[in-house]
Amino acid sequence: MQPLFIADHLALDFINSAYGVKPNHVEHLNHDEQVIAWLRDAKVLSENSHLPLVKKPGQLLKSALYLRENARELLLLRSRQLAGDATLINQLLARSSAYQQIVWQAPDTPELVQHRNFLTLEDVLIPVAESIASLLVEGNFALIRKCENPECSLWFYDKTKSHQRRWCSMAVCGNRMKVAAFRARKTDTNAVD
Ligand SMILES: [Zn+2]
Repeated sequence: MQPLFIADHLALDFINSAYGVKPNHVEHLNHDEQVIAWLRDAKVLSENSHLPLVKKPGQLLKSALYLRENARELLLLRSRQLAGDATLINQLLARSSAYQQIVWQAPDTPELVQHRNFLTLEDVLIPVAESIASLLVEGNFALIRKCENPECSLWFYDKTKSHQRRWCSMAVCGNRMKVAAFRARKTDTNAVD
């Protein structure tokens, strides 16, 4: 199963890299290589990035899972206007070595392309930490919501014009919930009959 990128925000997509409750729990981060693959799928790590050697196998996964749990907790606290512990995120932010370079994709359109140097393998998590930080500080928490399907645990940032987004995805939960509502109405009608 492919990771989901339905949240319209990197930090929330990262939180959504595990979802569902047992026996339908899905975990996309099970080892270091899957963390790297997720970051590539999320387009925050390019295929040709030079990655440092793995010093401690499993350390990247451990940090990624801690960062994800920490992000979830910080966002929940923030939605209740409470402070939290941002030690790990602040440590990652302090290690950022992002810089921009001018690149010509076509002769008439120079572009600034973001680059990063990674001193340790865990530094690949810095873009995610930056995204969590900006969501926490600048996010509109009225628009950061969980899917309305009670059996779904996915988060999203409602960037629709009408701010009426209710589902992680119309194809998955939207249709399922509409069918359920339709059945419930039908049962009600039958009961009256
Ligand atoms: Zn859903």
